Amino acid sequence: MKITKVISHVLKCDMPQELGYSQQFYTRRTAHIVEVQTDEGVTGWGECFGPGNVARANKAIVESVIQPMILGADPMDRDVIWHNVYNLLRDHGQKGMPLQSLSGVDIALWDIAGKVAGLPIHKLIGGAHRTRVKAYGYGMMLKRESLEDHLARFKDEAAKIRDMGFVATKMKLGLGPKQDVKLAQAVRAGVGGDFKFMADANHCYTTSDAFYVGRALDELDAYWFEEPVAPEDHDGYRELRAGLNVNISGGEAEFNRWGWRAILENRGLDIAQPEVCALGGISEYLRVLALCHAHFTPVINHVWGSAIAVATNLQLLAAMPALPGGLNPWEPLLEFDTTENIFRDNLLTEPMAIQQQVKASAGFVAVPNGPGLGVEPDIDFLNKYSVN
Ligand code: CA
Repeated sequence: MKITKVISHVLKCDMPQELGYSQQFYTRRTAHIVEVQTDEGVTGWGECFGPGNVARANKAIVESVIQPMILGADPMDRDVIWHNVYNLLRDHGQKGMPLQSLSGVDIALWDIAGKVAGLPIHKLIGGAHRTRVKAYGYGMMLKRESLEDHLARFKDEAAKIRDMGFVATKMKLGLGPKQDVKLAQAVRAGVGGDFKFMADANHCYTTSDAFYVGRALDELDAYWFEEPVAPEDHDGYRELRAGLNVNISGGEAEFNRWGWRAILENRGLDIAQPEVCALGGISEYLRVLALCHAHFTPVINHVWGSAIAVATNLQLLAAMPALPGGLNPWEPLLEFDTTENIFRDNLLTEPMAIQQQVKASAGFVAVPNGPGLGVEPDIDFLNKYSVN
């Protein structure tokens, strides 16, 4: 079996409303789907993390840099392919866009392997530790509106996400430390006393501002404080984890086993959030997961993007062993973006209908059981939104 073609489908659409987080506002949604074709008619699908023009640049890396390295290779040799590509790209970027690009290709090769074996990816990894996963819903994005409008909307939206059936909810931070504390108070008021909520700073604080907000999150009994400081600031992470009660989470902007080794050895994370579509694909995710568990750091995957990314993560969450295990073990969650996303809801020939599952099953989402990722994109939909 040989790889005959690698295609990047960069999808783009206007969003119904502008949304923001601590770094920027955005009005367009992008997804970067990778298709790997073979001489035996088996096609694999993957996804690369990276929005907007980053996706356009990653398309060039996938098609013009990685494709020539892997044409003619046996797609079943995915770990050999991973190391060949990584070694050739090492001098040009051990993190960032080359790894995002390799991730989409690697996921597509796992999809092919599953289709050849007639097994879902979680079976190739070693089986399902769980056949369904509880989902948390994030929303409460920033807008160009007053603090008062933010407070009313966050309180309302937090209650709505709880009522949709999600088991926890996550808000954005980023208006400024004092305002952000008020936002978190509004979310706690919206969800009530016993419901889990998390707060995501997208690395906008200095360490001292993060302590200020973190102490308020402690008082509000927030479940985790995500990316409080810059991903490069390992010392800041360690100091925050040592000084706050709230769980410190992060890692979505970290890449490969060597990057993860450094943040884990620094003891700055209570919860690790690896992004499989960025850090190097499923092959590298499994090594990062082993590293996290070797450091007894629980993992809740970062999930962003289209239905391909969601299906990939469901396969991985199924195959993740409990840490440390027990009759009622700590369980991972599926991250789910509650804002409108047609590339997640309308991309597949058979949609996963996650919101409906969450509503009907007390927050649980079923792991796809078909071969490979267990999902197939609708080619007409891909072509309609592709900006290739
Ligand atoms: Ca995040």
